[in-house]
Amino acid sequence: MSYIGRFAPTPSGPLHLGSLIAALASFLDARHAQGRWLVRIEDIDPPRCPAGTANTILRQLEAFGLTWDGSVHYQSERHADYQAALERLVERGLAYPCSCSRKEWRRHAIYPGWCRQGPLHPERPLAWRLRSDLGTRPIEWEDRRLGHQCFDPAELGDVVLKRKDDFWAYQLAVVVDDADQGVSDVVRGADLLDNTPWQRQLQDALDFPAPRYLHLPLVLGDNGQKLSKQNLAPALPTDTPGIRHTLHHALQRLGQQPPCAMSHARVADQLDAAINAWNPERLRHITTGAP
Ligand code: GLU
Repeated sequence: MSYIGRFAPTPSGPLHLGSLIAALASFLDARHAQGRWLVRIEDIDPPRCPAGTANTILRQLEAFGLTWDGSVHYQSERHADYQAALERLVERGLAYPCSCSRKEWRRHAIYPGWCRQGPLHPERPLAWRLRSDLGTRPIEWEDRRLGHQCFDPAELGDVVLKRKDDFWAYQLAVVVDDADQGVSDVVRGADLLDNTPWQRQLQDALDFPAPRYLHLPLVLGDNGQKLSKQNLAPALPTDTPGIRHTLHHALQRLGQQPPCAMSHARVADQLDAAINAWNPERLRHITTGAP
């Protein structure tokens, strides 16, 4: 099977060490397999995506030598494909319009499916939800790091596919794009693991092939918290010595044991060595105290 991998950042802020590590792992896995590596900008939620951030991310990837194949794909340009997928789900009885507000079902752990037989308040703005109680159950897959995974999507609830404000939800967009781009391998952080059952359910509902999944260990900061924009992860360096050092550090955080002598080496040389030596088995030995 030919390999197509991808890095799919949401341009809500520049890359930080955690997202750089996810990009690097996905890049190394693809290049080690002599596969293609794509970049997709997940800009479906414009209020969360400040202008110019997507470009900042692309420049950061280039500075770290993570060059992609083909042109960059932007989710904000893909409305027609998401709409077609939603219509297919509706035809199959697997998606329905929902008028409920979060406040109305706040006493329930998950959305209780009140609008499954038709919206309770059709005059209100409507979201679209997936029927989690129909279709393939349970959802199972082999994660390349975490092993066998099994979830009952009905316990996760009817996920939103299109929001009341007319924006597409991440779950639908990611599944349509991964299929459209022929992605064979998803390598991403374990913080996205909870989304995978819905994505697998959607793939089955739309007759899309399932990619292989590798969920990476979460990268924790010195304070033991997940590195994220919310936790004010430090900005990535932009100077050459800083970039070289950070790349070496990122390889160490992926358990790849890059030779110490390489810590000041040129980015291209560090990456060549890391592509050759890439061993995802080593991800199993990283201890982060998190899944
Ligand atoms: N856009 C998502 C994020 O930045 C990642 C999507 C994915 O890798 O499936 O968290």
